[in-house]
Amino acid sequence: MQCGQRNPETCDNFMCTDEVWAACPECLCFLCFLHFNLRDDCLCHNLAFNLSEIPLDISSSASQYQGLTNEEERNNEDEVMPLMESRRGNFENQASLDTRVEENGDQVLMATLESKQSDATDSLDIPEHLEEASLPQESADNSQLSPESFQVDGERALEVPEQPKTVKSRNQLVKERRNAGYSYESEKSKELKAARRFASYETSCEKCHFRGLSCNTFSCNTREAIRSAFYDLADLTKQREWIGRHTEQIQEKKSRKIRKCAYFLPNAGDPCIKVRVCKAMFVGTLGISERQVKTVLGKKRPYGCLEGEGRGGRQTSDRDALLREGVKRHINQFPRQESHYCRANSRCEYLSEDLNPEIMYRMYNSSTEGTEECASLSLYRKVLKKMNIKFHHPKKDMCPLCETYRRGNPKEREEIAGAYKVHIAEKEKVRELKSLAKERALVDHTFVSAVFDLEQVIYLPKSPQSDIFYKRRLSNYNFTIYELASKDGWCFLSHECETKRGSCEIASHVHRYLNSLDERGVKQVVFYCDGCVGQNKNSIIPTMLQHFIGKAKSVESVTVNYFPTNHGQSEGDAMHSVIERSIRRVKEVMVPTQLSTICAMARLHPILIM
Ligand SMILES: [Zn+2]
Ligand SMILES: [Zn+2]
Ligand SMILES: [Zn+2]
Ligand SMILES: [Zn+2]
Ligand SMILES: [Zn+2]
Repeated sequence: MQCGQRNPETCDNFMCTDEVWAACPECLCFLCFLHFNLRDDCLCHNLAFNLSEIPLDISSSASQYQGLTNEEERNNEDEVMPLMESRRGNFENQASLDTRVEENGDQVLMATLESKQSDATDSLDIPEHLEEASLPQESADNSQLSPESFQVDGERALEVPEQPKTVKSRNQLVKERRNAGYSYESEKSKELKAARRFASYETSCEKCHFRGLSCNTFSCNTREAIRSAFYDLADLTKQREWIGRHTEQIQEKKSRKIRKCAYFLPNAGDPCIKVRVCKAMFVGTLGISERQVKTVLGKKRPYGCLEGEGRGGRQTSDRDALLREGVKRHINQFPRQESHYCRANSRCEYLSEDLNPEIMYRMYNSSTEGTEECASLSLYRKVLKKMNIKFHHPKKDMCPLCETYRRGNPKEREEIAGAYKVHIAEKEKVRELKSLAKERALVDHTFVSAVFDLEQVIYLPKSPQSDIFYKRRLSNYNFTIYELASKDGWCFLSHECETKRGSCEIASHVHRYLNSLDERGVKQVVFYCDGCVGQNKNSIIPTMLQHFIGKAKSVESVTVNYFPTNHGQSEGDAMHSVIERSIRRVKEVMVPTQLSTICAMARLHPILIM
């Protein structure tokens, strides 16, 4: 049997003609259910026979990565049974590992075969075993992982010494120096200003003692410490806050009109306690001018707040508001549509898919030509974002009739106008019926409305290994039913060897679902599905319904409504996209049974058709 002549629908094991069930995780040969579960040597698989070196490489590197056996043990075994090498891989179980340490070759073979046999019967009984086996990373003990065990392809980048930061603007440098109390060159007059940090401490506080002020208790060292702490703040706002904390407006008892200011400095012995000093002492210790103190006093607001810095920043003038108005007016000229999905949750509106901010801005720009009032592109984008407007993304499966009408010239439009009108009316009517049914189902528990549809074919195995792209993969079908009121999802999973995807299968799935509804005591059922002739809109479904109604205990009526072609419902599509997204999140999907886990993880009710 040659590679090119192999029939992809039969097992790749020698002499076996059974149908394919899944791919061998190591050599990617297609195997039947029995041979897949046996997990025998890859040497029995056709491809491995032709290219016997490949599986050896894969398995040895795999075991190295897993760190299951140490070097000595492996060498020892190689002497005894060189052929056993290919058995070692990701999917080895502990039993076969333990037995192989024994010395006697024959005994080893027997023991291993036995454990394989028991393994196979186990996995036939419990399908969950397969999932565990194919996810070695997840099932492995987390405590044994170390940072080094997460290997990546390729090498690390060369270490480049960190680049010094780019020089700040002169403006910024001057500001920093000034706030930190060092000398700086004035921006306007270009003259050199003296360092405030090193200004003189001179004060004459001879009489302060008699006024009840404690100016004399401050030594030179304490004053220096206070000053350097003040300038180390190096931030104008923080320094102003400091001054604000150490000044207080008080009312003298005698004269009620004149407000005086009291100045405080941190005490030398306990810096957390403030001591009252005279103004000259306060100003002299900090090395600031009286004017700075005055500014802070002027910025004091009720309840101990200090007004922020008013200088700098962009002045949002009336011109800005005018520009915004103009941009808004321009955007409002475009027709908009509300969100297609989840209308209740989102307040987004959508513009035509042919537009984008650049195109819109170009139109705006040309419309304002000649006048001075023209906003920038960034302002245009900002307004667009604030108005909560997005752009439609074209759907993949467009309805041919709608598309022709939308893109056609006036003459073509006129020709199909009648048909289009009916088409749109049909579409609206079904949507309306569906939302009515949903509302009723929310209140009435004997009434169920559901949508059903077949998801896009899922191809398995899905793996980052590049070999897999050159193989024909197993098609998996997922038939979904979504209950509108309870928001429950049902997935009927099967693959191409088990079922096809015709009306018979869909009828069986719906029948099974209806049986469960019958047990729940539901009286009336309304279905919505797309009008695909091969699957839904045919004589098989009504025949099944008749058969079901004849036997049902509680269900009295079942109605099926068909959407116009290519105008499917959003609920079923949303469910499909949820499943597809969770499949994309999983790195490796090897076996169809894993799909049920994935559907369950997506908070849906998986039902396996095995
Ligand atoms: Zn087989
Ligand atoms: Zn194989
Ligand atoms: Zn294999
Ligand atoms: Zn004093
Ligand atoms: Zn249409």
